Amino acid sequence: MSLYTDLDTAPRILLGPGPSMVPPRVLRTMATPVVGHMDPQFLAVMDDVKELLRSVFVTQNELTVPVSGTGSAGMEAALVNFIEPGDPVLVCHAGYFGERIAEIASRTGAELRTLAAPWGEAFSATQIAAELRAHRAKLVAIVHGETSTGVQQPLEEISEVVHAHGALLLVDAVASLGGVPFSVDTLGADICYTGSQKCLSCPPGLAPITVGSHAVNVLADRHSKVQSWYLDLSLVRKYWGTDRVYHHTAPVNLNYALREALRVVCEEGLENVFARHAAVSEMLWQGLEDLGLTLMVSPDLRLRTLTTVRVPDGVDDAVVRRRLLHEFNIEIAGGLGAFRGKAWRIGLMGHSARPENVLALLGALERLL
Ligand SMILES: *Cc1c(COP(=O)(O)O)cnc(C)c1O
Repeated sequence: MSLYTDLDTAPRILLGPGPSMVPPRVLRTMATPVVGHMDPQFLAVMDDVKELLRSVFVTQNELTVPVSGTGSAGMEAALVNFIEPGDPVLVCHAGYFGERIAEIASRTGAELRTLAAPWGEAFSATQIAAELRAHRAKLVAIVHGETSTGVQQPLEEISEVVHAHGALLLVDAVASLGGVPFSVDTLGADICYTGSQKCLSCPPGLAPITVGSHAVNVLADRHSKVQSWYLDLSLVRKYWGTDRVYHHTAPVNLNYALREALRVVCEEGLENVFARHAAVSEMLWQGLEDLGLTLMVSPDLRLRTLTTVRVPDGVDDAVVRRRLLHEFNIEIAGGLGAFRGKAWRIGLMGHSARPENVLALLGALERLL
């Protein structure tokens, strides 16, 4: 007798801040037989994944690997490998994920300084320059697409300022990479990470990270061991590089899935992917405003992959989300932190970013409101 029924989840339209919908061919690829993590067939998969990741990060960086773990593991790896106790570090936060970076940095023994901007706003290069003139930093961390606020942080001038002060630039591109134009090499980001389940439309569990040559040197010149053995990139890269030294067992089938998800992105072409996200986000913004709703972020700073919209007065945030899920199979998210109860968060990431999904959501919201 079987104690449990077969797993049969209702198919959802995933329009939250991640995970996004996964293309069927990615799920099918995940069911490819498991091989050993040292099997030459898997080593070839690893090489493909690294090469495909370089295309999507738009970088030549040799050290480009998927960290085993979700986006937060990428965040932690991006911090602990390049910070030693006593290092001066600046974390800019204007939302929940910037605050998480500060929280992780605070556990490294860094001499941490934080710069805050109000939720819904972005940092100016002038502001960061003033901070760096007053206090030297070895590393400056900032979020590109802040999923808690729906702000896309402009980074070009900030990158110049950070490098003029001799610091490394660490960028969180978890919610933006593969959705909006972004190039690690053009920007000059020294360390950048993302998550498999956002705009790359792979199931959650891998956090691609890329590290430029300056940061690789910083890692090589460390005086102390990296505080995390599991996330120590100098060990991880021996497995992902030419040495192929066992470190931990790679999540084999997730890497199959990531390879396929990256192929999907590259087949469509980055320019087409960005154009699709641009078109559907315009459609969503217009549709929400036509329903009389107010967007939280000014048009010049709006993140196309994650929109925050004000919960209208007299409307119960949680009831609307629950009814969207149960009556229409549509997932959106509530607000975090300062936006809790005040905003809905609507994601248009990767495979979810399609006009039919926008129309389904707008139609359902119209009925519910
Ligand atoms: C989702 C997200 C993270 C964290 O990723 P997890 O996969 O939930 O660990 C970090 N930063 C940003 C900007 C995100 O959107």
